[in-house]
Amino acid sequence: MHELAVTRSILKIVLDNTEKNGSSRVRKIFLQIGELRNLEEDWIQHYFDQISKGTPAEKAKIHVNKVPVVFKCKTCNKEFSASFREERKILCSHCQSFEYDLLSGREFIIEKIEVE
Ligand SMILES: [Zn+2]
Repeated sequence: MHELAVTRSILKIVLDNTEKNGSSRVRKIFLQIGELRNLEEDWIQHYFDQISKGTPAEKAKIHVNKVPVVFKCKTCNKEFSASFREERKILCSHCQSFEYDLLSGREFIIEKIEVE
């Protein structure tokens, strides 16, 4: 997912929400983003500043809570986390199995919007 496209969708949701609540200004936007999404907070803020000009969300501050990548092993049933920045094969850290499900890391959630 590209930051600009993502930022456009955030702005749209924020503005829809603002309109519904009859708020005049958006102060802060809290996002939850899984590490697998590979989105940079600085870029989201940068794009947001550009595309929100002239809207009630202009100058809103974006806060990103990164959600770690967590797997659940199908062999030993234990949970483990892994970083995708290291370019290597991911194995269960308990039993070295290749079989696992992804529990978290793909989140993209607007957690909270602070308005005036
Ligand atoms: Zn395991």
